[in-house]
Amino acid sequence: MAEKIIMMAEQRGNAPAIPAILEAPTGLLSDRLARPLHDLRISVTDRCNFRCVYCMPKAVFDSDYQYLPHTSLLSFEEITRLAKIFIAHGVEKIRLTGGEPLLRKNLERLIAMLAELKTIHGKPLDLTLTTNASLLARKAQSLKDAGLQRVTVSLDALDNATFQRMNDVDFSVDDVLKGIDMARQVGLGPIKINMVVKGGMNDDQILPMARHFRNTPYILRFIEYMDVGASNGWKMDEVIPSAEVVRRIHAEMPLAPVAANYAGETAARWRYVGNDGDGGGEIGLISSVTQAFCADCSRARLSTEGKLYTCLFATSGHDLRALLRNGRADEEISTVLAHLWRAREDRYSELRTNNTDGLPRSANKVEMSYIGG
Ligand code: SF4
Repeated sequence: MAEKIIMMAEQRGNAPAIPAILEAPTGLLSDRLARPLHDLRISVTDRCNFRCVYCMPKAVFDSDYQYLPHTSLLSFEEITRLAKIFIAHGVEKIRLTGGEPLLRKNLERLIAMLAELKTIHGKPLDLTLTTNASLLARKAQSLKDAGLQRVTVSLDALDNATFQRMNDVDFSVDDVLKGIDMARQVGLGPIKINMVVKGGMNDDQILPMARHFRNTPYILRFIEYMDVGASNGWKMDEVIPSAEVVRRIHAEMPLAPVAANYAGETAARWRYVGNDGDGGGEIGLISSVTQAFCADCSRARLSTEGKLYTCLFATSGHDLRALLRNGRADEEISTVLAHLWRAREDRYSELRTNNTDGLPRSANKVEMSYIGG
């Protein structure tokens, strides 16, 4: 019998204290490791219609699983208010996640509210979303019309049986591919495809996926299987290091490394080098286990019910919703955020990479389905 997961939601801590001296945001906030606050990932639902084995294994997230009541979720107005506060501290990119974000009703309304916001430099936000594409074919046009700029689609295999073993529901690869194509047709892009590689389960799909997405406008990224949360039964020997992924592809389709687009980019970029120079596009490697990238991590995460998490592998969050619902002013919440970020020194992956065997396995790590990947 799988161990019952105690939802972080039930462990409501106290609202963060309001510092005595309030401060105005400068947009130049940095944490203890001199990392700016650049990216905000917002989970808009803890629900999903897939049961990916590395994120929401069916044995744990079963039919008795208690999801958050709707009243616990941040409203679109609360999300937008917090987003404005994060932007004033330097956020330039917002990624909507879940669970599966397209399951949140009227999500287009939230997207339209966020799309109106500008960075401190007066530029449009980089507004994107990560989805399993189960609803993308149907929703792509309305998402685009609402102001979404691009999407990242999770697809762990081309072979249907393997795909269904990974997501543990009977959703087909064809439907995901249709969603991806529809997203491109309506003008969402660049479109990235995320494949989590789990040794012994779908690593035989690395080459078929690379062949399929080469010479297309899509950027395929391979993600090392991670010990996120406390429910996926992670083992180091099921991790296929990114170096091995590159070796396998390079043997058939030569690759060359490419410089990052910006500091803090999670994926290491490689491009195909064909005889004619344009080898057919690029791939990305997200190597949280074997090549940690904490040194540049500028990501904050907002859970479905308004807790701030400063790391994907955090064991506790800071209850910003309580501040919102206790009638705190923006300046107060903004000052709290500044203090929390300045105190940040998370670098879980770096510690794990340097100490894979010795690192304590925390049973309290927040679930990825609760704060988004
Ligand atoms: S482990 Fe935490 S600090 Fe490191 S890159 Fe991931 S989210 Fe950032």
